[in-house]
Amino acid sequence: MGLLSVAQEYLHFGRAAPAVLVLVLCWCWETVYPRVGGRQGRIRHAALNLSMAAINGLILFFTLGLATTLLSLWVAEHKFGLLFLLDIGWIGRLIVGFLLIDAWAYLWHRINHNFDFLWRFHRIHHNDYEMDCTTSARFHFGELGIAATTRLPVIVIFGLEPLPILFHETILIAVSQFHHSNIKLGWWDQLLRWLIVTPALHHVHHSRDLPKTNSNYASILSVWDRLFHSFYIPEPTQNIELGLKGYLDPCWHTVAGMLKTPLAEVIHDSTIKFETPDLQITNNAKPL
Ligand SMILES: [Zn+2]
Ligand SMILES: [Zn+2]
Repeated sequence: MGLLSVAQEYLHFGRAAPAVLVLVLCWCWETVYPRVGGRQGRIRHAALNLSMAAINGLILFFTLGLATTLLSLWVAEHKFGLLFLLDIGWIGRLIVGFLLIDAWAYLWHRINHNFDFLWRFHRIHHNDYEMDCTTSARFHFGELGIAATTRLPVIVIFGLEPLPILFHETILIAVSQFHHSNIKLGWWDQLLRWLIVTPALHHVHHSRDLPKTNSNYASILSVWDRLFHSFYIPEPTQNIELGLKGYLDPCWHTVAGMLKTPLAEVIHDSTIKFETPDLQITNNAKPL
């Protein structure tokens, strides 16, 4: 079976299976042990977020998704890019490639918070004030399309093959569903956050208090926030309100409302979103 067939098989079946499995597990976990209990309208909320995922899939699957796969196949076939200059074998390229993609995801997310044009799209993800595992699917196709386009040169420069890309994507979906989940892990959160982004870390990123939103940008590995001084853990007594001021009206929480959000101007967006929180680079705070 050639690389192209593997990629095609994965595109069709493999990618969906772990995503659906982890989503179902997280959904059940939220149902039994929710961080915030007594939520109403969970099905409607999930349907809304998953509708965005369906729209994104329809628009991006055979466009930028396919372009990414084909470009990485070309890179692998021609052994093009910086990673091929290192004598580290395919496992080495898999690990280093995974780290590079995750570092790029961190950087790109941070850029999204600092440029008005990109923030217009990214705020759809942040305006979910009832965050749960389905929020991991709540993105505007504009954001995902721009992200995929800007990653294409990264693939060529570093020589990222299909395997690290697909590996990263699979882990990303699982970890993203996990850290968006409405669950409370207690001390496990403190332990896990040494390695990956946990629910407590990512809940802060979705804080309604925008200065705190500009922290904890990492997607999978939490090391990037520690390295680049954006790691933030609030005091355990701190109440975190989710969502975005200015987007609490029900009109923003429909498929049409989310699709047109990038066109909306909200003044306080550009006046306070560049502030940074008083960063607390520690892992010793009590769990949320
Ligand atoms: Zn964000
Ligand atoms: Zn998020």
